[in-house]
Amino acid sequence: MRKKSSILLTITVILLIGFGSTILSIFKIIKTLEYDAKQINEVGIIRGAIQRLTKLELNNYPDDEGMNRIEVGLDVLANLDKSYIESYGETVADIQNNWSRYKTVIEELRVTPTEENRKELFDISEALWIQTNQAVYLTQRSSELKIAKFKLILPVLLINIMLIVVIALLIKSYVRDQLEKTANYDALTKIYNRHLLYQVLEREINRSDRYNKEFSFILFDIDNFKRVNDSFGHDKGDLVLIELCRLCEDCIRKSDIFARFGGEEFVIVAPETGLEQGLILAEKIRKKVEEHSFKAVGHITVSVGITQYDKGDTRDSLYKRADIALYHAKRSGKNRTEINIKGAE
Ligand code: GH3
Ligand code: MG
Ligand code: MG
Repeated sequence: MRKKSSILLTITVILLIGFGSTILSIFKIIKTLEYDAKQINEVGIIRGAIQRLTKLELNNYPDDEGMNRIEVGLDVLANLDKSYIESYGETVADIQNNWSRYKTVIEELRVTPTEENRKELFDISEALWIQTNQAVYLTQRSSELKIAKFKLILPVLLINIMLIVVIALLIKSYVRDQLEKTANYDALTKIYNRHLLYQVLEREINRSDRYNKEFSFILFDIDNFKRVNDSFGHDKGDLVLIELCRLCEDCIRKSDIFARFGGEEFVIVAPETGLEQGLILAEKIRKKVEEHSFKAVGHITVSVGITQYDKGDTRDSLYKRADIALYHAKRSGKNRTEINIKGAE
């Protein structure tokens, strides 16, 4: 059980880490797409502005406003969060270098316009055109790749969510099982507790009334158990209870209900079993215990009281009758089985 819960916990942690990192990747892709769009937009503006600036400057119309616009654009590019820019860092650096040269040539051209610096300005503007085009192209390609990646991540995310739902349902059923176990099983011996025994008895009583079926009710108690505890200690006493239960489980059928009634007192409800067969079962258990050597304490014995269901019986009347039989077994020297049927009390 502990193994199952740690497996469930490990899977949950892995799924949650997977879910978290997928969400982070999606967030990063969306953010970089946003930055790509800003870059494409800004580089496009710079590209157009340089073309216009070149045309005006070559025709002797100084365009300081155009220059400012390009400076602002380059600043925007330089100040974009670098962690989101993957595509064209080198190209931006090239554009910036060429832009510095371009500005120097413009200043020379404005003071001394010669054919040479006109040509140089034109050449740099062509180089800038190619570089800005390249930057736009690279950013667009990187955006397309990111969108493709995004399309791949979505099914992964969906599968992740589905797995988390499945695991949540498994955990729910696991917790329910655990609660049921705590409610119906005895913590020490792992057999049914009195709570479940009562439920089963109600069911068997109803079944017997409706279909006229018989069943036996066997009650047994360890002889002189106080002495066992006093001589060997309570812990060894506990081990005896556990070992006794495993021993009895080997004697009963799957359909029999074996429960710890309390302390060192146990009940077996054997459906479809009349008194004769019930007595055989009771004796089988008594002898098996008598012959068994318990690891912690050696030999012990049990006394058994047995009765069978009769119309009108309740769980309490059944117990009371079997308890009287058990009392007689104890009074008659212990390590024996006594029968008590209705009307004989
Ligand atoms: P008798 O033959 O008449 O049944 O004598 P006994 O000593 O068994 O007396 P009784 O049934 O009255 O005492 C039951 C003892 O079982 C007393 C109690 O300390 C012990 N016991 C009850 N539950 C547990 C348990 O869970 N573990 C251990 N180790 N001892 C228990
Ligand atoms: Mg006892
Ligand atoms: Mg007792």
